[in-house]
Amino acid sequence: MSRLLNHGKPRDYAQTPLNIYWETTQACALACRHCRAEAVPDRHPMELTFEEGVSFLHQIQDFGDPLPQLILTGGDPLARSGLFELIDTARKLGIGVSITPATTPALTREILVQLKAHEVEGLGLSLDGSTAERHDAIRGVPGTFDRTLQAIQ
Ligand code: SF4
Repeated sequence: MSRLLNHGKPRDYAQTPLNIYWETTQACALACRHCRAEAVPDRHPMELTFEEGVSFLHQIQDFGDPLPQLILTGGDPLARSGLFELIDTARKLGIGVSITPATTPALTREILVQLKAHEVEGLGLSLDGSTAERHDAIRGVPGTFDRTLQAIQ
C-alpha cells in the first residue's frame, strides 16, 4: 500500500508537512500563461546539482515517520538530468514520490512505464480547457491538448 496511507503514527502538521514540492529545474518546453515557476527553455545554472539534490532528500528523511510525500515538479521534471537516480534515492530513503511532468514530446509511453517501474506513486497532468483551442492557448504550444489526452490514456 502507498506510504500516503500507510503511516504508523498520526501526522503532527506543526512538525511535518504532508507534501513537499521540489521544483527540480526551471527548464520547460511549454510557455503557460500562468507559469509561476518562470519556466525557460534551458536549465538554470544555479539549480541544485545531483549531489545537492541527494542531500536535500536526506533532509526530507529527517522529518521521520510519517514522512512527507515528495512531489517532483518544475519547470518540467523530465528536463532534469539524473531524475531516475534521484527517484531511486528517494525511494531507498523510504520517501514516497509523485511527479507532475509537462506534456511535451518527452512524456512518452516508455517514460510513463519507467516512472512506474521506479515506484513513482502518483502523476499529475493539467487539462485547462475542453478543446484544443482553449487548452493550447493557455499552455502556449499547439498539440499540448492532444498530448495530454494521450498521456492520460
Ligand atoms: S508546464 Fe508548468 S513549468 Fe512548464 S510553462 Fe507550464 S506552468 Fe510553467
